[in-house]
Amino acid sequence: MDKLTYSSTLPYLGEYDICVIGGGPAGVCAAIEAAREGKKTVIVETTGMLGGMATAALVGPFMTCYDSKGEERVVRGIFDEIVDRTIEINGAISPDETDAPSVYTSFLKKYHRRVTPFDSYALQLVLDRMCIEAGVEIFLYTKYVDSVLEDGKIKSIVLAAPEGLVALKAELFIDCTGNADVAAKSGVETWWGSEDGMLPQPGTLFFEVDDADDEAFEGRGKRPTQPTKCYRKPIPGTYKVNHYRVYGVNANSARSMTDAHIEAREQVLDSYKDLLETEGFEHCKITQVAPVLGIRESRHIVGKYRLTVNDISEGVFFDDTVVVFGYGMDVHSRDGQISGGFHGKTARKYTIPYRSLVPEGCSNLLVAGRPISAESQAAGAFRVIPACMAMGQAAGQACAIALGAGCEVGNIDTDLLRDRLRAHGAIVDYEK
Ligand SMILES: Cc1cc2nc3c(=O)[nH]c(=O)nc-3n(C[C@H](O)[C@H](O)[C@H](O)COP(=O)(O)OP(=O)(O)OC[C@H]3O[C@@H](n4cnc5c(N)ncnc54)[C@H](O)[C@@H]3O)c2cc1C
Repeated sequence: MDKLTYSSTLPYLGEYDICVIGGGPAGVCAAIEAAREGKKTVIVETTGMLGGMATAALVGPFMTCYDSKGEERVVRGIFDEIVDRTIEINGAISPDETDAPSVYTSFLKKYHRRVTPFDSYALQLVLDRMCIEAGVEIFLYTKYVDSVLEDGKIKSIVLAAPEGLVALKAELFIDCTGNADVAAKSGVETWWGSEDGMLPQPGTLFFEVDDADDEAFEGRGKRPTQPTKCYRKPIPGTYKVNHYRVYGVNANSARSMTDAHIEAREQVLDSYKDLLETEGFEHCKITQVAPVLGIRESRHIVGKYRLTVNDISEGVFFDDTVVVFGYGMDVHSRDGQISGGFHGKTARKYTIPYRSLVPEGCSNLLVAGRPISAESQAAGAFRVIPACMAMGQAAGQACAIALGAGCEVGNIDTDLLRDRLRAHGAIVDYEK
C-alpha cells in the first residue's frame, strides 16, 4: 500500500527541562531523581498507570537486589524508598525477609534469593505519590510517536494524547519506553532481538490467582509443571503466575502485538486448567489477567559502550559505574526450540557503566532500562526491575548534572554523577 504524507500544526502540551518517556521502573526513578534536583520534569506514559511491566503486565516479584549469591545488598537508592513505601501500605515484603527456595520464588533457588513480593495496585499508588511529591508532572494515556530533530538533537516530540496529536518541548529527554521507541526515531542506530539475528526473548501474559493453599504448595516444595512458576504475593494464598510464552513478538508492530496478545489470552486459560491439577492450587481462582502483554526484549541501542557477556561473567568494574547488580543472564527460549534458562557464568557482582546509557547519534537523549547498549545475552541479566530502577535514577541525575553544567549528556563529569548517586543512597561502588 502507498504511504501517506501528512503535515499538521500541533499545540504544545508544555515546555520542560527534562522529559522522561515511558513510566516503567526506569522512567519513574529517572523522573523522581530529576525533579528532586529542582528540574522541571515531565513523565509521559501510554497506559493509564505508572510501573510498566511491574504493574500493567503484572510481572513480579522484584527480582533480587542482592549479589548473585544472595548475600550482599547491591541496589538501594530510590528502589529502597519504593519498597519501603509499598511495605508501609502492606503491599510488599522486604527482600531482606524472603529467601529461596520458597513460595516467594516458586521454589527456584539460583539467583532468586532476596526477591521482593509486591502487589501491583499498591505499587501504582506508591509510584503516583512519589512522582507527585517530587514535583513530576505526569501525563498518562499519552504515547510518544515521533521526534523533530535539529543538528543531532531532539527539538520537540510528537505525542498521541487523548486530545489528539500534541507536541512537547524539553532540553533533555530520557527514553524509558523499554523498546527504545524514542532512540529509534531520533537518529540512534538500534537492533532487534539478538545481535546475531536471533529472535528476541518471548513474551508472556501474566495472571494472578487467590485461594491457593500455601502450606500444601510449601509441602510439595517444587514449582508447578514447566514452564509455570507461581510467586506468592504479600497476602497469603495469592500468587502471580508466569507461564507459557509467545515467540517472535515484535513490540514495535501492531499486527505482531495483536496476534501475540490474542494467542497469549488463550494460553492463560490452558495454563489455569493445568494449575487446577497442581497440589495447593486445586481451588484457586483467577483474580486478574494482565491488561498488557509482558515483553522481555525488543530493540537495543547502539551506545557509547556495549556491555558484554564477558563483563558480567568477570564482574568488570568501570570508572563510570552507575549500577551494581547480581542477577544471572536469564534468557528464555527464543523460539521454543533453543533451550532457555540461565546462560554463562555470572560474577558475584557486576556493573553497568554510564556510557551504556548514552546513545550514539543524538546528543540530548539518554536511554535507561532494558534497551541500553549491551549484548542481548548480557541484557538478560540486568533487564529485571531493580536494575532498571537503578539505571533510571542514574539517568535522571545525569540529566540534572548536564543541565547544571550546560554540557551534553555524553560529556558530564561521571565522578560527580557517582558522588551524587552515592549521596542519594544508590550503590555505585564495588569490591569483588
Ligand atoms: C513476562 C515477564 C516476566 C518478568 N519477570 C520479572 C520478574 O519476576 N522480576 C523482575 O524484576 N523483572 C521481571 N521481568 C523484567 C521486567 O519486568 C522488565 O524488564 C522491566 O520492567 C523493564 O523496565 P523498563 O522501565 O525498562 O521498561 P517497562 O517496564 O517495559 O516500562 C516501559 C514503560 O514505557 C511505556 N511506553 C512504551 N512505549 C511508549 C511510548 N511510545 N510512549 C509512552 N510510553 C511508552 C510502557 O507502557 C511502560 O509503562 C519480566 C518481564 C516480563 C516481560
